[in-house]
Order: sequence, then structure tokens, then C-alpha cells
Amino acid sequence: MLTLAQCPCSGGGQGASPLLFFGLVACAVWLVLRIGRKDGVSRMSKIWKIAIVVALAAVVAIVIINKQRGSPPGTDSAKGAAQVSQPAAGLPRLLDLGSVSCIPCKMMAPILEELKKEYEGRLQVEFIDVMANPDAGRSYHLSLIPTQIFFDASGKERFRHEGFFSKEDILAKWKELGVDLSAGAPAQAPQASAGPTFSRLEPAKADDRPRDAICYMCDGDINPKTLVAVKSAKGDVRLCGPHCYFIMYSCLTEDKTDFEKKVFVTDWADGKMVPLTEALFLYGAEEKTGRPTIKAFADRDAALKERTASGGTLVGFDALQTQELACRCGFCDRAVYPQDAASVRVDGLSTWGCCSHCALGVAARTGKDIEVHQPDRLTGEMIVVKTASGSVASLEPKTAVAWFGLRKAPDGKFVSAGCFHQGFFVNEDNLKKWVEQNPTKTGKAITIAQALADKMKLTPQQIQKACKIGECAPK
Ligand SMILES: [Zn+2]
Ligand SMILES: [Zn+2]
Repeated sequence: MLTLAQCPCSGGGQGASPLLFFGLVACAVWLVLRIGRKDGVSRMSKIWKIAIVVALAAVVAIVIINKQRGSPPGTDSAKGAAQVSQPAAGLPRLLDLGSVSCIPCKMMAPILEELKKEYEGRLQVEFIDVMANPDAGRSYHLSLIPTQIFFDASGKERFRHEGFFSKEDILAKWKELGVDLSAGAPAQAPQASAGPTFSRLEPAKADDRPRDAICYMCDGDINPKTLVAVKSAKGDVRLCGPHCYFIMYSCLTEDKTDFEKKVFVTDWADGKMVPLTEALFLYGAEEKTGRPTIKAFADRDAALKERTASGGTLVGFDALQTQELACRCGFCDRAVYPQDAASVRVDGLSTWGCCSHCALGVAARTGKDIEVHQPDRLTGEMIVVKTASGSVASLEPKTAVAWFGLRKAPDGKFVSAGCFHQGFFVNEDNLKKWVEQNPTKTGKAITIAQALADKMKLTPQQIQKACKIGECAPK
């Protein structure tokens, strides 16, 4: 968690030059000596007093300059809390309390500048550097920086948020608070900010598959020949195959000691259940995509017979597990097959996103700029997203949108439907076609900027828990 402790690198290059200080003092001393020589020693004590006053005035001036330079241009940080807590001209006000050195605080700076420009005359945007103005920070009772406080036009605090807060989320929050920032906006502004509007929150067709025919992890159909069953106190957790088992294993938060002993796989040859650790696996690849295929066997002869027929490599449980856990999502750490995953470049290295949204999450997890390559879920056309400081820097094609898969929780609220239900599309038409082809899917179309913002707002603790399974139990 962020603390209010000051980073040792903060303030570098921000203060008034020490040269200026020494320059002013040297001028004062030179003046004193020159006047002293001219007018005689008798006036020296008076002159020294004047010199000391001049030097002190110079020091005070430098302190003031330092404070003013310590705040980003166009902000009111040097004024302190007393002044900035007064709303100006009856405008709603966004106050960001941070420092010029912490990383999420720095990421807020361009967002504040944009809001300041775009909503000039409608929203007052302020920044207080609480390192330079510790008194100001104290009066707001902060627990971490950056903190954003939303004041309505009457000056009443309506909401506060801790950590990085994206522009999209800030604007959405104002809307939620019932504050209309669009009043008096230029005519083209609403159009420019309009994202996709399509959503489907009730499935077009009910999912009428029997419950035990649905994979717990991916919601895909279970092929009886590759079924994997995990024994739990609440009954068997049924999975479509060994890969979904390893995905589940990679995102468990419980103690994994001996977990594999609770797992049974289906013998490809005779359909009987075999303990996972005792089975042999024929590891092959789909001809077109190279995506791995796994068939389990209790009996070596049956496995060799199948290998002769279909090819592949025979491996034991340990080798299979090593292979299956080798590639992981750079955001949520789930096991992935590169053939299914988004490819992510970060700092010249390659990682994966188990889904399109997780791929964007790599920017949140690493705090770095990333490049994501993810195929359209309908057509396979490539979508390329580059980020800079937690925002979308470029998008190819520009029409690309994201599908945010949602499901209704028992309390009626919509929550993320999980990694298997997300996607990118080159345009909204493709997204709609894909949704039509998948009548049980529910969710909404969002901009890729919003999908990124949803990840950037997560705290390190939330990132740690992202996409994890708390306990192994049937849904
Ligand atoms: Zn599955
Ligand atoms: Zn993931």
C-alpha cells in the first residue's frame, strides 16, 4: 500500500537554484563592503544590519519560489488547504491530493490537465502536493496518496477515491453523483466521448445444458472422454479436460499441498476414472493451430496404441504439469496456452493475457507501458493496443471495441463473467454478430480505454486477488 512517506527522489529539479541564493547573498556582501569602504568604518554596524535584512529577505523569497515551483503548472497547491477548500464560482470541484514523486500521483497529472482544459468553466480541478504542503494533507485526513475528493457546487464533499483514478472513471463518478458536466459543452464533445452502447444483460436463450455437462472453469461443453473430476466436500467439480484443471490449479488460493490427489481423469480408452497422478498422458497438437491436445490413459499399452494411431508424446503427470504451468497470464497468473492468449510486450519482454482484459491488466500490474496483440473473437483479425502511463496511446484499428462479459450475481448485481467471457472486436458490428452467435452470453460493449481504466483503478491487493478461486467448490 502506498504511504504518505516522501520518496527520496521527489522535488528533484523543482526548487529554486542554490546559485540564485548565493548570488543574492554575494551581491549583499559586495554592496556592504563597497559602501563600507566609501563611507568609513563608523557606519559599518548599521550597514551590516541592512545586509542581514537583505539576506533574510532573499531567503524568504527563495522559500516562496520553492513552494510555487513544487506544484504542477496551473494548480493551486501552494495556497494550502484554507484557500482551496472554498469552492470558486459555484462550480463542482475535483481535488487531487498527491505528490510530484509517487508513480500513481504522476499518472494522475496528465488526466487532471485534460479535465482542467476540457471542462474549463464547468469543473474546478485542483492539485495539492501534500509533501510540499503537509498541513493541507492533514486537514483532509488522508490515508494514502493519491486521493481524489469530489465536491459539489456547494462545496460539500460527495465522494472520495484512493489510488489512481482514470479519466473515464472520474467522469462516470460525476455522472453517478448527478453532476452534469456537459452543460455548455461544445456541440461535438458528447459525440467524441460516445462509446459503444450495445449491451445484452438477459440471455437471448437460456443455457439449458445439464449442469454436469458444463465445465466449471470455461463453461464449455464437457466431452465425456476427457472429463476431469476434482473431489470436494460439496461434490465433484467437473472440468472439460486436463487443461482446465491446470487453469483452475494455477488460480487457487488455498493450500495446494496434495491437491492433485483429489483429482481424477478419464481414461481415453475405456472411459473409467483414473487418479491424475497415476495416469499417462498423450500430449499432441492440433495440426492447424499447434494448440496442445491431451488424452489420459491408465494403461501404457493402450496409450502406445493411440500414439501409433494419432501421434504425440507420452508423458507422466509431473512432466505434464510442468508443461501446462509453463505459460502464465501476466496479469492474473493463470496457466494459458499461447494459442488461446493475447500476446503482451512489456519492456521488450513477452508475456500473455489469458483474456483481452487481463492483457490490458499487465499495464496495471507492472506499472509499465505495454503493447497488446489480440485477435477479434469473431474473425481473428488482429487488434493492437499500445498504452502510455495507464491510458490508451494508440489503437489499431481505431474502431476496435471490447466486450465486457457480465453475469447476474444472486443479489441481482452484474459482475464480471470471468476471463473466458471477454473479448476484443475490430468494430461494434463484429461484436454484435458474435453476441448473436452466442445466445447465452450476457454483457456489454465498452471502449478499450474503459477496459484498461477498469484494470488501472485496481489496488495492488485487488490485483493479487484478480481471477482467483477462493475455494474449490461447484458453482
Ligand atoms: Zn473447460
Ligand atoms: Zn488472466
